[in-house]
Amino acid sequence: MPSGPSGRAPILERQLGLLNQGLALLAHQNSFYRQRLRDIRLPLPSMDDYRRLPFTTKNELASDQAANPPYGTNLTYAHSEYTRIHSTSGTTGRRLKVLDTEESWGWFTRCWQEIYRVFGIGPGDRVFAAFGFGPFVGFWAGFEAAHQVGAQAIPGGAQSSLQRLDAILECRATVLLSTPTYALRLAEVARENGIDIAGSAVRATIHAGEPGASIPATRALIESAWGARAWDHAGLSEVGAWGYECPAGEGMHALESEFVAEVLEVKGDSPVGEDETGELVLTNLGRWAAPVVRYRTGDLVRLRSTPCACGSAFLRFSGGVLGRADEMVQVRGVNVYPAAVESIVREESAISEFQIEIFERRRMWEMRAEIEVNEGSKPEEVRVRLEKELHLRIGIRADVSIVPRGSLPRFELKARRFRIQREGSQNDM
Ligand SMILES: [Zn+2]
Repeated sequence: MPSGPSGRAPILERQLGLLNQGLALLAHQNSFYRQRLRDIRLPLPSMDDYRRLPFTTKNELASDQAANPPYGTNLTYAHSEYTRIHSTSGTTGRRLKVLDTEESWGWFTRCWQEIYRVFGIGPGDRVFAAFGFGPFVGFWAGFEAAHQVGAQAIPGGAQSSLQRLDAILECRATVLLSTPTYALRLAEVARENGIDIAGSAVRATIHAGEPGASIPATRALIESAWGARAWDHAGLSEVGAWGYECPAGEGMHALESEFVAEVLEVKGDSPVGEDETGELVLTNLGRWAAPVVRYRTGDLVRLRSTPCACGSAFLRFSGGVLGRADEMVQVRGVNVYPAAVESIVREESAISEFQIEIFERRRMWEMRAEIEVNEGSKPEEVRVRLEKELHLRIGIRADVSIVPRGSLPRFELKARRFRIQREGSQNDM
């Protein structure tokens, strides 16, 4: 367990030590951060001084790479020291290139080792990564960490869903790494082809990239289809593998032995209170070759800092990552974000796929949903029930229509099922 001592003091002490070592290095030899840290007196006397550090945004990193192609100036070592290049997924804005040295990549995979340990995965397990192994950092680190914890790592790239299912059965995989959406897609293909995955050797599924695995209804669908325990995990290419689902079911813990985590008001710099929703801001404490300091992730989380039932003193976020900060809309004072909408749709187990558009008209929010319904269910009943539930629980009038089976896109990487249109601007959820 990475939870460490029960109090917060040892966590903060460790963070301060790592932070001061790293910041000294950045101030000396990373030209991106040398500028930013110019007015900060180092070393920081305590973690109370952490909030004096400037923020970093994805926009700043992207602009820096555009102005200093191809890799930008956020490099702490000579280019020849960097042994890996990955990129962000490109689902929000342009792709960022992320470089790692042996040391920083080793740290990334060590974070994943911690996560596997919490999830009880190790020697004897066979981990199948249903992942394309392209430039997106995705499950690369999870794949490498699998063999480091003594499990067998099975690459599932460049295959159709049916081929992947065959490989999972043939290799007797015990763990599936995929997005939540793709776990459900594999289940759909299995059903269509009469393949019994609930009876397969898969005992755990590990998900990232979307909120799904922390949404109770989505998780229930994955767990019943696979006959396995679904675990949520959170990471970002430019930050690292920062979060793991609490084994006691209390939300997502930030891996505070390797990251500093804060939850701040969206677009603001004040910390939110207990049980409030805000933007997650992170500093990675072991990736000094490719660091981010007080990085505004744009991810929405709900803060819980009271002691956790699992014994960990790490901060936790109930419901995991709730969506992106720019995806949140306010309806009569209530925050609505994709995870809240998805949780309602997924409660209708007859719905196999969906797309949702939320748009603003005369300062009122409206919603259009397209759904595919499984064979053997009653589409009209599902449609009417979903319209009613969405209106009742989200407070937005919804117009739901049934579309033919197989007509909506299926996603292997990060699903894009939500579109939000604000008056006067356009933005994809
Ligand atoms: Zn916990």
